[in-house]
Amino acid sequence: MMNIILFGPPGSGKGTQAVKIVEKYNLLHISTGDLFRYEMGNDTELGVLAKSYISKGELVPDDVTIGMLKNKVDANPDVKGYIFDGFPRNIYQSEALDRILEEKGHSVNALLQLDVDDEEIVKRILNRGKTSGRSDDNDESIIRNRISVYNDETAPVYNYYDKSGKSTRVNGIGSLEEIFDRLSQVIDASK
Ligand code: ADP
Repeated sequence: MMNIILFGPPGSGKGTQAVKIVEKYNLLHISTGDLFRYEMGNDTELGVLAKSYISKGELVPDDVTIGMLKNKVDANPDVKGYIFDGFPRNIYQSEALDRILEEKGHSVNALLQLDVDDEEIVKRILNRGKTSGRSDDNDESIIRNRISVYNDETAPVYNYYDKSGKSTRVNGIGSLEEIFDRLSQVIDASK
């Protein structure tokens, strides 16, 4: 199994690159953001709860997020591996992910961080907001809050996996193909 964490700030291109990685390496893409948006779109109890955090640019509580992630992993046991996008977003979630995989005899193989600077992120997300229909993409103060949550709570996840030599940074500026080639090189080297 090959399990990859696609990491980086909001708007760094994780979702776009995940689609390409899935095509090439045949992994299952699990995006907690997409899972929450699905629930919000269906107005489920989970969706309503998630929305109250997402609309402010805050993290959804860990127990809710980890439970949802675990369900998705448990429901798809026969895959070549998972690509986690938007998860883990703090150290507690990282420990939970390690436990979930370990129970099945697996582990995280690599964490790939897309490096994109804050001003580029704000520009990209505001631009995406014109068509994404996402309420968290349209307001600059909410976007800046997402970036500060990333810097405070999420960024340490890089070091958490770096301790076992699994973390790599990749330049997230360039054409989609250029960035994909950089990611592919790291994935091929971690096989
Ligand atoms: P982006 O990477 O652009 O921030 P996502 O789709 O990954 O977008 O996430 C959107 C929002 O969903 C986040 O701002 C957060 O509120 C919530 N969310 C997604 N994943 C998690 C997670 N692992 N833990 C807590 N909240 C999450």
